[in-house]
Amino acid sequence: MSKGVLTIVSGFSGAGKGTVMKGLLANYDNYALSISATTRRPREGEQDGREYFFKTREEFEQMIAEGAFIEYAQYVENYYGTPKAYVEEQLANGKDVLLEIEIQGALQVKKLRPDALLIFITPPSAEILEQRLTGRGTETPEVIAMRMNRAVEEAAYMDAYDYIIINDQLEDCIEKTHRLIQSQHAASSLQSEFICRIQRELKERKESKA
Ligand code: 5GP
Repeated sequence: MSKGVLTIVSGFSGAGKGTVMKGLLANYDNYALSISATTRRPREGEQDGREYFFKTREEFEQMIAEGAFIEYAQYVENYYGTPKAYVEEQLANGKDVLLEIEIQGALQVKKLRPDALLIFITPPSAEILEQRLTGRGTETPEVIAMRMNRAVEEAAYMDAYDYIIINDQLEDCIEKTHRLIQSQHAASSLQSEFICRIQRELKERKESKA
């Protein structure tokens, strides 16, 4: 059975990653989106088990102690982490798993699994980023300022990603992201079973003719 591709999508808060993820899930049927755990409070309209598993600090730290996360990080005073079991199960079933996580977590996963695909989604400019954050209407000016500051720090790591996608036209951005993930199926690191089989077959043929 072919293994799924593990894709990490990061981007500045307000870059539209969440919308791109929703688009991938709606347009194609080979994706599974990992739901993270967090200690941040639910925003209006968010549901436990749908956007996030909302945890207390104590619960989250207990999960860290149990080794339940592939990665976790602190972001603007809250913990965020990717539960391990779901991701491993879906990849083994051949699903392409999407992690929408910030940069520290992305780099942790890449170290652990070099075959993971790292995609960074960005708005076309800093001005548009600030407009999008303000337009959401869900965050206080202080939080927006913190997120803009965080974006400055994150921008320093953009070149650690395999691909940068500019989210200007949403449908284009979804399509480009999908094509990159599908291309990754051909990566030699995901073809080790096939490589072993054809090497064996070629050797056997050579030996049978000798
Ligand atoms: P938000 O509070 O806006 O939902 O998310 C804040 C940041 O945390 C976003 O950059 C989001 O991608 C990131 N994030 C969400 N889940 C995880 C996770 O499981 N691990 C890490 N490292 N970051 C996450």
